Amino acid sequence: MKYDILVNRQNKISDDFINDVKLINIKDVNGNDVLIEEKAFSQFLKLKHYLMEYEDIIVEIECAYRSKIEQEIIYEEFVSMYGENYASSFVAPIGCSEHHTGLAIDLIIYFDKEGFISCNDNFDRTTLVFEEKVHKHLSDFGFILRYPKGREDITGYSYEPWHIRYVGKSISTEIFNCGITLEEYYEKIGNNNI
Ligand SMILES: [Zn+2]
Repeated sequence: MKYDILVNRQNKISDDFINDVKLINIKDVNGNDVLIEEKAFSQFLKLKHYLMEYEDIIVEIECAYRSKIEQEIIYEEFVSMYGENYASSFVAPIGCSEHHTGLAIDLIIYFDKEGFISCNDNFDRTTLVFEEKVHKHLSDFGFILRYPKGREDITGYSYEPWHIRYVGKSISTEIFNCGITLEEYYEKIGNNNI
C-alpha cells in the first residue's frame, strides 16, 4: 500500500489507485456507513484513545473516503450555497480530493465528554482546540495536518484544522519536524514518488 501519494489540484488521483487500497466499512459520527483505509483507521483509533486520555477530548470521524460521484455532489452543493469562489477554495474538484484515497479524515471534536458537546459549530473555538490539543500529536500516529495555516498558496486550499491525512510515521515525523507541507516534502525528495 502506497501511503505517500500526493493528490492535489495539479495531481489527480489515478483511476486504479483505489484498487490497491484496503477499505473497511465503519460508522461515522452520525452513525452512517463510511469507508476508510484499514491502517489509517487503526492509527486513528490510537490517536483517539491518546487524545481521550491525555487531552481530555473526544475526536470522531466526520468524513473519510469519498467517491468521485460523492465529491461531485458536494462540490455542486457548495457552489449553489456559497458560489463558485468559496466552493473552489474549500472543496476539491473531482479527482483532486484527498478523500478519494481513503487516507484522509475530517475530524469532529467533542470537548465535553459528559455532554458530548461538539465544538465544530464554532469555527474559532474549534480551531483553537485543534491547535492546542490535536495538531501536535498527529505525527506520532502517522498523520499530518494537510492544509496548514499560511500555506494556502502551496497546498491550494484554505486552512483546514480538521483535515488530517495518513502518510505513515516516517514521513509524518519529517513533515512535522521541518514544518513543511506534503507538497514541499515531495519537492525536497525530488518528486520521485509521484
Ligand atoms: Zn477533508
